[in-house]
Amino acid sequence: MKITILGTSAGIPTKNRNVSAVAVQFQNEREWSLFDCGESTQKQIMKTPLSIFKLKNIFITHLHGDHIYGIFGLLASRGLQKADSPLNVFGPKGLKEMLQTVMRLSGLNLPFELNIVEIEREEVLVFKNYELFAVRLSHSITTFGYVIKEREKEGRFMVEKARKMGLPEGPLYGKLKRKERVVLMDGTILDGDGFVAPPKPGKTVIIGGDNDDPLLFLPFKNPDLMIHEATYTSRDFEKLQKKYRHTTALQLGIAASEISPKKLILTHISPRYESEKDVEELLKEVKLNFDGDVEVAYDLMQIEI
Ligand SMILES: [Zn+2]
Ligand SMILES: [Zn+2]
Repeated sequence: MKITILGTSAGIPTKNRNVSAVAVQFQNEREWSLFDCGESTQKQIMKTPLSIFKLKNIFITHLHGDHIYGIFGLLASRGLQKADSPLNVFGPKGLKEMLQTVMRLSGLNLPFELNIVEIEREEVLVFKNYELFAVRLSHSITTFGYVIKEREKEGRFMVEKARKMGLPEGPLYGKLKRKERVVLMDGTILDGDGFVAPPKPGKTVIIGGDNDDPLLFLPFKNPDLMIHEATYTSRDFEKLQKKYRHTTALQLGIAASEISPKKLILTHISPRYESEKDVEELLKEVKLNFDGDVEVAYDLMQIEI
């Protein structure tokens, strides 16, 4: 799975950070999915090899502007360029009204099929190569985080082993691949099981939306990757007069020590943290409680798992 973090800023874009969006590509799939679509996400996509023609699903965590205002421009551009493959958009209640209203008022007629699916409660969406868990988060409006659970991958056929034994290529290989038992002309019995590598477990990835309670992801322990907001350091959060419902780096470290992701990525960074020193402060706070692999996201960061 290849993950590209397209935008990493909270609330407003900065010179170096655009607002929220994460692209996910599955191995051997030409199409890809987008999680959130803040303003200017289509410009961020242009800086990557990804194409909006191959974009198949958009999953929106919540309807705050920094997570969705980019979708209107993206849909319009995809339409103007005459893309004709269907696009599915998932998100909380209100998504349909929001999209349809903007499209109606601006006379936007799309040349492709747009399927809008509203998620009203925690549920599991089933796709060909993975399941997607929508997890209700704690924020000022209805918000879902998403957990991708890839299906187990079939074991690879060990073609080198078959060749080494001098077995002729052709239908025989097909039978072994299907783990069948094969009797050769000379009476040798081959067991297909021995020619197929054990299946590989699928990966689990948590993509959190805005949320002030990261422990809501505790049912998904030991994920391969957890991308979660850490908008402020706890020290700055204490000083805020109006408290928004976000996670601090300190709080995320405490939660991560329980959830134990193999890799933790902090994102949705407040515009106040611009310098490398500021980023270090966020990291320092997480590390007080979490001693695993952790990084602060930057725009166009790529992670392969
Ligand atoms: Zn936000
Ligand atoms: Zn929000």
